[in-house]
Amino acid sequence: MEQQDISREGVTMDKAWQLGRLFRPKNNHAIAKVEKFANIDIQKLNELLGANFKGVILDVDECISPHHEEVLDENVDAIIEMINQGIKIVIFSNMKLSDRYVPLIAKVKESTGFEIKIITSKHAKPDPRGFEESVAALELNEGEDVLMIGDNFLTDGGAIRAGIPFIKVKPIKTEGEGIKGVKRWPQRGLRATYSGVSNLYDLLGQRKVLKDKDFRRE
Ligand SMILES: [Mg+2]
Repeated sequence: MEQQDISREGVTMDKAWQLGRLFRPKNNHAIAKVEKFANIDIQKLNELLGANFKGVILDVDECISPHHEEVLDENVDAIIEMINQGIKIVIFSNMKLSDRYVPLIAKVKESTGFEIKIITSKHAKPDPRGFEESVAALELNEGEDVLMIGDNFLTDGGAIRAGIPFIKVKPIKTEGEGIKGVKRWPQRGLRATYSGVSNLYDLLGQRKVLKDKDFRRE
């Protein structure tokens, strides 16, 4: 049977509730906030936190690619490096399944032998059920942990509620969107608002949040 997929980009009740939930400190705490995906070093993260992260649920749009565009080469290389460190990755995007993942999956398969699965759950982010399906697809061993990496607390940050630590990446800028870009202003505004709320709680709660420099190796 052909794989059925639906777009999960629209407004859902769960997304609406997430607006309120994000004001609770535990729901807006990212373990790391970085300028770009390629700066994340999971081996280093495990050393720093005494953790055993072996699986990553990865967002696409504005996390590893500009909005609705192809994955940046730099991020393809970073994904390959992660997999070479023994990390498993699945992609969980609220966007419809698209051909734009094909080159990424092919390049990764060719250089590592690992095949990245695309999660096409009917439960859009931030619904915890979509994250649970993603965890199952990673097929990790006992004692191995999962991380979510994305750019948006409203959607990707739902992982926290599913008990999955979250790393927030600064959204990648999309050039030349014209009127389409304008239509996305409200969404971007909300994303920035919640990012600000999280930053404020970091400050007030003196929460530990790793930054790009923490991943740098001497
Ligand atoms: Mg995104």
